[in-house]
Amino acid sequence: MKVIVTGGTGYIGSHTIVDLLNHNFEVVCIDNLSRSKKYALEGIEQITGKKPIFYQIDLCDKEAVSKVFQEHKDAIGIIHFAALKSVPESVEQPLLYYANNINSLVNVLQAIHTYQIPNFVFSSSCSVYGNADTLPVTETTTIQTAESPYAHTKQIGEDIIYNFSKAHPFHQNILLRYFNPVGAHPSALIGEIPLEKPNNLVPYITQTAIGKLQQLTVFGNDYNTRDGSNIRDYIHVCDIAHAHTLALQYLIDKKNATTVEVFNLGTGKGVSVLEAIAAFEKVSNQKLNYIIGPRRAGDVVAVYADKTKASTHLDWHCQYTLEDAMLSAWKWELKMQELF
Ligand code: UDP
Repeated sequence: MKVIVTGGTGYIGSHTIVDLLNHNFEVVCIDNLSRSKKYALEGIEQITGKKPIFYQIDLCDKEAVSKVFQEHKDAIGIIHFAALKSVPESVEQPLLYYANNINSLVNVLQAIHTYQIPNFVFSSSCSVYGNADTLPVTETTTIQTAESPYAHTKQIGEDIIYNFSKAHPFHQNILLRYFNPVGAHPSALIGEIPLEKPNNLVPYITQTAIGKLQQLTVFGNDYNTRDGSNIRDYIHVCDIAHAHTLALQYLIDKKNATTVEVFNLGTGKGVSVLEAIAAFEKVSNQKLNYIIGPRRAGDVVAVYADKTKASTHLDWHCQYTLEDAMLSAWKWELKMQELF
C-alpha cells in the first residue's frame, strides 16, 4: 500500500518513513528541503534497504502538489508533517508561519479531495492546549489561547480539518498531538539536523556536550515543581514514528468512530529539565556545563500527556525510555560530526 509523506526528510517524517517501510508500505516522500537535508533519504535507505520515491516540491505551489497527487492517486493515505516549527521564529515572523503552514495544508487537502485519497494523518502538537489548566492533558482538555503563532497555525490546521471533514465525510482524519519528541534512530543513521541554532532542549544539551555551544542555560529553577525547573513529556521519536503507522492502519481498517479522531502522543510521564540533564549525563558519561538562568518568556510550567486513548484505540505503547532517547541523541550528535 502506498502512502504519501510530506515533510518526509524532516525529523519526525524521516523516522516515520523508516517505520512505514519496515511495515511494508510503499512511500512517496515530498519535501522542499527548506529545513531538512536530502541526506535523510540516504539514512532511510541504509536502515531499511528501501528507497522512498522523492519529490522536491513546495507544498505552497498548488500546481506542483496537484501533479504529484495525480501521479499517486492510488495512495491509500497521506501523512502531513511539512510545516515550519520554531516557536521563537514564529513570534518574529508570524506571517511566514501563517502563509506556509496554512497554505500548504489547504493545498494538500484540496489535492486529496480532488484525487479521492481517503485517509489523512496530521501532525499536530500539544502546544494547541496552551496553558492547560489540568494535568495530565487529555484529548478533551479545553484548548486555550495559543502561546505562539506556531501553535496558532496548529489550532487553525485542526479547525480546517474539522470543517473539511464535515463537508467531505468521505475523508477519514487523525490529528496526532505530539508532546516533546526527542532522540534519534538507534542506528544513528538519521536524527534531527538543526540547521541553525537549535530550538529545543535536547539538541541544546548534545551540542553543549560536544562543544558546539559553550554552555546550556536552564531557564528557571524557581517554578512550583519538584525541583523548580519546568516539566515536559519527552517522548522518543521512534515511538512517535510508530504511532503514525498505527494511526494510518487504524483508518485503513475503518476502526475510527468519527471522521476526525485526536490522539495525544506522549509517555504520560513528566520530566523536569534538571532530570533530563541528569539522564543525559548518566548515559553519555559527560558532565554538562550548565547554569541556571532566568525564566524563558512563554514557557508553560508543566505539561504532560494522558496517553490512555492512543494506548487503547491504537494499541500504541512506548518502547523506549528517556535514557534510550538521550543515548540515541548523543550517538546522533557524534555521528553528525562525521557526516556534515
Ligand atoms: N530549556 C532550557 N534551556 C534550553 C532550552 C530549553 O532550560 O536551552 C527548557 C525550556 O524552558 C522548557 C524545556 O527545556 O522547559 C523544553 O523546552 P523545548 O524548547 O525543548 O520544548 P517546549 O518548550 O516547546 O516544550
